[in-house]
Amino acid sequence: MASLSLRNIYKVYPNGFNAVKDFNLEIEDKEFIIFVGPSGCGKSTTLRMIAGLEEISKGELYIDDKLVNDVEPKDRDIAMVFQSYALYPHMSIYDNMAFGLKLRKMPKDEIDRRVREAARILDIEHLLDRKPKLLSGGQRQRVAMGRAIVREPKVFLMDEPLSNLDAKLRVQMRIEISKLHQRLQSTIIYVTHDQTEAMTLGTRIVVMKDGVIQQVDSPQNLYDRPDNLFVAGFIGSPQMNFIDATVVKEGGELFLEYGEHHRVILPPEKAAKLTDYIGKEVTFGIRPEDVFAADKYEAAHEHNTVEASVRVFEMLGAEVFLYLTVDGFDVTCCEHPSTKAKPGDIMNISFDVNKIHVFDKETQMTIT
Ligand code: ATP
Repeated sequence: MASLSLRNIYKVYPNGFNAVKDFNLEIEDKEFIIFVGPSGCGKSTTLRMIAGLEEISKGELYIDDKLVNDVEPKDRDIAMVFQSYALYPHMSIYDNMAFGLKLRKMPKDEIDRRVREAARILDIEHLLDRKPKLLSGGQRQRVAMGRAIVREPKVFLMDEPLSNLDAKLRVQMRIEISKLHQRLQSTIIYVTHDQTEAMTLGTRIVVMKDGVIQQVDSPQNLYDRPDNLFVAGFIGSPQMNFIDATVVKEGGELFLEYGEHHRVILPPEKAAKLTDYIGKEVTFGIRPEDVFAADKYEAAHEHNTVEASVRVFEMLGAEVFLYLTVDGFDVTCCEHPSTKAKPGDIMNISFDVNKIHVFDKETQMTIT
């Protein structure tokens, strides 16, 4: 069992910089929690406070209902895997993995059992006699994981463990880590600035910005129901399109007007949430996969059709990204590879109005 409770946690560094502000989070046993956000948002600081490597300036940290603010890192029953694997070059892989346990004066046969079991889980049994310099980056990362696993900790903390690997290996190791989580059935807190890594690994994701939690949710909810414009823009690749518009009501119908008097008529349930905004500016967002070449869509939605010029065409094999301009707004559209569109073309596009997100321009919070 390992649940964690972070209550009103702050970190103020000695130079006065407030890196984490009023961080509140309940982590359940066996959860795979991701801290994600842009560089400098306070992810590592929070992780280091949990590990005990950084003092908590204010607030309380509980592990299994025990207040641990003043508990030494070694007594927290936590293992941390860092971005740099820092293996001892002169020791074999076996000894690298056994080292921490030897320091703890664990009996030899227990050490042997744990090292071999971890090596089996990570599929590195055949490497145990080698020195680190003979291993590939991915293999070294496995050894670093192995060193954490042998400790059989209550909680694993991982700080960008894959960022030194090339793109292909990162994808492979991502899958390995997911399997590892299923296998070990332990609590993992994982830091990354990569939203794809966050979306694919986490059971719950904590999105941070400037030391403040923006939203805590499942990957699907973050994607479908972002709480604010920052989360909407951060999660998803290519990112959500944002267009400034005015809420207008005319002839009983409520719509968004943008650019050169283009209109998006909203479905009734979305329109109902915008009545307080009539005459005001908002930002609306639409994901690239919800922007269509209009020929597929225009019959039912012709009033939402607009002309766009194609700037860039990106072929990804299974799909194509079209980078368009609509009245000076950049709009990305995800299309089928069979599309005939090419740079320089003018095409008609439509938005799936049921998938439109609308944000308050001042607070940047989601209205609908
Ligand atoms: P990255 O993805 O780049 O690692 P991060 O989200 O993990 O970023 P942190 O390393 O937690 O960010 O840093 C948060 C903020 O605190 C940053 O602005 C950083 O410059 C600042 N910071 C970190 N360590 C210290 C320190 N010892 N003294 C003062 N400020 C610090």
